[in-house]
Order: sequence, then C-alpha cells, then structure tokens
Amino acid sequence: MQFPKINLHVHSNYSDGINDIKQIVKKALKLGLDYIAITDHFTNSWKAGIIPTLNSIDKISEYLDEISNYQNYLIENNKNLVLYKGIEVDISSSERYIKKFIQIDQFDLVLIEYLQTPESIAFTKNIIRYWKNSITNGDDFPILGLAHFDPFYFLHGNLEILIEFLKRYNLYFEFNSSYPQCYSSRNTQFFEKLREHQIPVAIGCDSHNLANLNDIEEPIEMIKYYNLKRNYKILIDKLGFKNSNIPRFSI
Ligand SMILES: [Zn+2]
Repeated sequence: MQFPKINLHVHSNYSDGINDIKQIVKKALKLGLDYIAITDHFTNSWKAGIIPTLNSIDKISEYLDEISNYQNYLIENNKNLVLYKGIEVDISSSERYIKKFIQIDQFDLVLIEYLQTPESIAFTKNIIRYWKNSITNGDDFPILGLAHFDPFYFLHGNLEILIEFLKRYNLYFEFNSSYPQCYSSRNTQFFEKLREHQIPVAIGCDSHNLANLNDIEEPIEMIKYYNLKRNYKILIDKLGFKNSNIPRFSI
C-alpha cells in the first residue's frame, strides 16, 4: 500500500520562512515528496506587525509567477513532484482586506488560519461565498483546508455546526506535525465524525525551514490510527483533479 508523501503547508521567504522557493523545490525533489504547496501568510491582523506577509498586489503576483515558473520546470522535466500555489489566510484579518487582495482563481490551495469560534465560521462562509461568486468557472476554485486547526474549540456544543460547515464548503483537515495537539486523542470524537462524513484529510508540516519539510511520518501514523485512509485518498484525488498530468495513487 503506497502512501503519497505530501506537505501542503510550507512557508518561503515571501513571508516568515527562511528559504526561497528554489531551495524548497530542490529539497522536496531530493526528499522524494510527491506533492507540496507553498502557502505564505496573508494577514492584516496583529500578525502583520510581526511577520512579513503577502501584503500587496505586486508582491502576490511576483510570488505566484515564481511558483508558476517552478511548476513549469517540474512538468517540462518530468519530475515526480507536484507543486501548488497556496496561501494561508488569517481570518482575523479584515473582510475588506481579504476581498481586495485575494483573487481566488489564481490559487490552487487556500489554508484558513484561526478558525476557533462559530463567529469565525460565519465569517469564513461569507468570504468563501464571495470568492465563489467572483469566478465564472467552478474548476478554477482552489482546494480549501484548515491550517493547524484544533477541533477542541468546537467539541463542546458546536461539533455539528463545524462538521456541517466542513462538508458544505469542502474544507479538509490538516494533520500538522508542528501542532500535534490538534490530533491528540481528546479530539477522537471529531475524527470519528470526519470518517463518518468522508471529510478529506491532508498533511502539512508548517515548514519554515528545510529541516521539517519531510516531517510526515507522524501524521501518516495518525491517519492510520484514526482510520482515515479513505479520507486521505479523497484529498489525493482532489489534488490529482487540480493537476491532470500527474499519476493517480492508490492507497
Ligand atoms: Zn503556516
């Protein structure tokens, strides 16, 4: 049984990562990863005063162009690595800022950061609906996932609201090796719901340097432990759909 090696949460020096995109791609090839996404920060909350972020139209387009170049390089040279254009959106940013700067069909993958309350679910729904209305071709809509999301915030009273939201808006749960508390057994009930409702799961390492680019072993163990292999396969199929010239995996 083959388990595709993915890390859909990587920061470059366009935000608070240490390495440039070239170094990340080179290392990912060396490590034999199958899929990676560069997901630099986008925020105008308190965080924007602390870390560099994708804070202008020009910077975002430079970022996307650079990822495009490496995507082309990988395809032209028949490399087995698939690279995605991602972004990590802090939803404690202002609605206006998010709507103004993010042109949603430019991205393959969007991570939502800081989903912690029913109010933040309402906020995110509103943004997603806005994004969906802003495009004409549904196929251009990116894959959506929750970055280092801790379901514990919703376990007491709001679990149904959360699951309904994930299902309806097609968001995946990320097994993040930098935040193991998010997949601790206190959240077992949540993982049972994911299995029951076939909600996709992914792996992201929140890599800010090359040292943990391949920290996927523990997340894979956890996916097996919670019996979510089918959920992982759903995600892999979604990735394949986003990039039709790559081989499909069977797991
Ligand atoms: Zn991150």
